[in-house]
Amino acid sequence: MKRVAILGSTGSIGINTLKVIESHPKRFKVAGLSSFSNVELLKKQIKRFRPSMATVVEPSKADGLKAFVKRRGLKLFSTLEGLNIIASSKEVDIVVIAISGASAVYPLLASISAGKHICLANKESIVTAGDIIMKAQAKSGSRIIPVDSEHNAIFQCINSSSISKVNKIYLTGSGGSLRNVPRRKLAKVSVKEVLRHPKWKMGKKITVDSATLMNKGLEMIEASHLFNIPMDKIELLIHPEATIHSMVEFIDGTILAHLGATDMRLPIQHALTYPERIASPLPMLDFSRIEAFTFQRPDTAKYPCLTLAMAAAKLGKTYPAVLNAANEEAVKAFLERRIGFTKIAKVIEKVLLRHTPSPNLALNDIFQADNWAREEARSIC
Ligand code: NDP
Ligand code: MG
Repeated sequence: MKRVAILGSTGSIGINTLKVIESHPKRFKVAGLSSFSNVELLKKQIKRFRPSMATVVEPSKADGLKAFVKRRGLKLFSTLEGLNIIASSKEVDIVVIAISGASAVYPLLASISAGKHICLANKESIVTAGDIIMKAQAKSGSRIIPVDSEHNAIFQCINSSSISKVNKIYLTGSGGSLRNVPRRKLAKVSVKEVLRHPKWKMGKKITVDSATLMNKGLEMIEASHLFNIPMDKIELLIHPEATIHSMVEFIDGTILAHLGATDMRLPIQHALTYPERIASPLPMLDFSRIEAFTFQRPDTAKYPCLTLAMAAAKLGKTYPAVLNAANEEAVKAFLERRIGFTKIAKVIEKVLLRHTPSPNLALNDIFQADNWAREEARSIC
C-alpha cells in the first residue's frame, strides 16, 4: 500500500489523481491533501479519503477548517510551509505536485530532499528553477515521473535509452481553443471562448496558456530540463487530434510515439505506479474512430508567446523565471477581464525587455526576479 500526498488536490489534476486512486483501493492510500483556498471541496475530499494531514495555503481559510479537522483527528497546516511539511513527511511515499504556478518550486524541492517518488504535473516550477531542481534531484536520488502528458509520453519513449541516442523530440500540442480563429479576430476573443478547449478539460490558467501556445513554450523548456536535451533538439508539432502525445526520434532514424486516450488519468496512473504498469479502467483507444492523424507547424506570427518563450530559453539566466512570472500575472489579468487576449504577449514582451538578469542564480535571486516581473507585469496591466 503506497501512501500518496496530493498537493493541489482540489484542482483538475488533483481531482483526476483521486479518481485514479479510487479505482485502485488496494494499492494506494491518501495520506495528505491540499488546496489554496477551496475549503468546501477539500472537506468533501477529507471525508471521502480520510488523509492524516491537510494544508490550506490561505491562512484565513485554514482557520475555518479547524473544528472540522479536530473532530476527525487530522493534522491541519497552512501557508506554503504546510505544503513543505506534507511533501517531506515520513507518512508519505509518493508526492503528486498538482498545484499551479511557480510557488510549487518549494514543495517540489522539499519532496526531492526527502527522497520521495514524485509525480510532477506542475511545469512552472521547472521553467522557473529547472537547473536547481534537476541538480537537487540528481543528488538526492529521488525519482521525478512527469505527469504532463507530453513529458510522460517522452519519458516512456526514451525508457532506458541514453539521452545521447536521442536525435530529436517531437513535442505535440492540440493547438488550443483558438486554433481555428483567424489572427485578426484574436484581440476580441472572450474569456469564455478561450476556456472552451476542444480536447482537454483543465484548470483555467493552463487552458489560457494552451490558447496562446505559451503552454507549448513552457513545455519545451520543461522537456529540455527533464530530459537534459538542448532546446534546438525539441520540435513543436501541432496535432489537432491530440492522440499522439509526443514522439522521440533516435540516432538510427527510429521514431517511437506514445498514443493513448486524451485523458490525464492515463499519465497520472503511469506516474503513480512506475516502474510497474497495471490495468486501467479507462476505455482503450479505438482506431476505427480515428480518420487521420494530421500535423502542422506552429504559426509564430499568430502565437507570439511561443517566440517569447524560445527567446527567454535562449537568453537563460533569470529570463525563463521572468517569462513565467509575467505570464502568470498577464493570464490572471485576462481571466479577470482587465486586459484583452492579445495583450498577454505584449505584457510579457515588455517585462522581458525591461529585465536585467541577475549574475547569480541561487533560488533567492530567481525569486527576486520572479517578484520583480510580477510587479512589473501588474503595473503594465
Ligand atoms: P487548477 O487550477 O485546476 O488547480 C490548481 C490546484 O492548486 C488547486 O488545488 C488550487 O487550490 C491549488 N493552488 C493554486 N494556487 C496555489 C498556490 N499558490 N499555492 C498552493 N496551491 C495552489 O490547475 P490544474 O490542475 O489544471 O494544473 C495544475 C498544474 O498541472 C499546473 O502547473 C499545470 O500546468 C499542470 N498541468 C495540468 C494539466 C491538466 O490537465 N489540468 C495537464 C498538464 C499539466 P484551490 O482549488 O483552492 O484554488
Ligand atoms: Mg501538456
